[in-house]
Amino acid sequence: MIAPNTLPRVLHEASGRPLTLAQHEEAFATSTRSGSLLDELEASGLTGRGGAAFPTARKAKLIRDQRSHNKFMVVNAMEGEPSSHKDRTLLGANPHLVLDGAEYLASVIGAKNIAVCVSRDNPAAVNHLKRAIHERERRSLRGPKFELHTPPWRYVAGEESALVHWLDDNESLPQYRPLRPHILRIGHGPVLVDNAETCAHVGLIGRYGAEWFRSVGTDANPGSTLVSVSGAVERPTVVEVALGTPLRSILEAAGADANPQAVLLGGYGGTWFDGARVDAPYANATLQPLGATIGAGIIVVLPQNACGVVETQRIAKWMANESARQCGPCAFGLPAIAEDLWHLTQNARDNQAACQRLIERCGVIEGRGACRHPDGVVRLVRTALEVFASDIENHLRGAHCAASRSAQHYAAVPSLEREEELVWE
Ligand code: SF4
Repeated sequence: MIAPNTLPRVLHEASGRPLTLAQHEEAFATSTRSGSLLDELEASGLTGRGGAAFPTARKAKLIRDQRSHNKFMVVNAMEGEPSSHKDRTLLGANPHLVLDGAEYLASVIGAKNIAVCVSRDNPAAVNHLKRAIHERERRSLRGPKFELHTPPWRYVAGEESALVHWLDDNESLPQYRPLRPHILRIGHGPVLVDNAETCAHVGLIGRYGAEWFRSVGTDANPGSTLVSVSGAVERPTVVEVALGTPLRSILEAAGADANPQAVLLGGYGGTWFDGARVDAPYANATLQPLGATIGAGIIVVLPQNACGVVETQRIAKWMANESARQCGPCAFGLPAIAEDLWHLTQNARDNQAACQRLIERCGVIEGRGACRHPDGVVRLVRTALEVFASDIENHLRGAHCAASRSAQHYAAVPSLEREEELVWE
């Protein structure tokens, strides 16, 4: 058993090779849970680790209460964010813990089928899952049936309604959901979608219970979480930390610049966060009053000598290319935002007007997509305008910006060739 108050948890016994079923069972043999799984899940306070931070027990109850004999459990390991490595790290360490959690959740909602989704562009993770599912099938054919699905990788393909759309109809297009929570369906069957890391935590709560889970983290945000750290760091890495750990300690643990100009929190639809605030505890309850969230557990570190406007422009351009192009404000608005930012970085003659247009466009685009993709870009741009106010001032004055001509960048965006390859037709 993993002792309370200790880390790592979901990365326990991580060795660079995925644990076999036998190794996994040996490492996690003890069970100390006393209450029903749903009660323990509720008491644990676990929230989804895929970005939305919705309470996992509430989501499961919603599907459990649907009258249907054809329910589905879906594990979302698509990891559409280019700066996220946590799901592939987890699957490379212990795919069985993720599958345990999926089995627990399937038993709560009464699902006979579990669809495990991982991008076909991530062959190592596909292989780890194939092998793990095969091992379980050889052991026993009882219990819910696992099926591996490998949609093509795109940013929006991991959005849960797009993923269910793919499973239902082979199209990775987000569905319009005016009210949340909204019940997604495959055919007529209600679907519970949970992120791979969330499932791994459920796998541990199912064994050790809520009290154990809450022995790290804070009252409002209990437990541990995986964080993908990239940018001004020796090499991109994934660390498991207790929620509430000071951001600066996470940067130090990851070998990153601990005195950055800014950090991007939550991913490419996330928030630029001023480097002067990195002593803030890393947890939604403490970051939300500061205008940020942990999102999908991503930190991109920007050093003092980088230009935040240039980084934002590169991300916005890539995100514009990732639009599923089914909503006008997203299909036309995001490229226009990227172009305005480009004008700004080039110190073009009309950059004052470009800056004004940028602010207006954010207001027009926000809340007008079928999914949250454009809202994420708006959030990114608005926080850039605030956090990089002095960089913007310099560009508006036409001052020299070495970063706009430099080949060194900190936010990873797939290469231009990749972007072209991925153009949505
Ligand atoms: S908002 Fe954008 S990404 Fe989302 S469904 Fe509409 S076009 Fe696609």
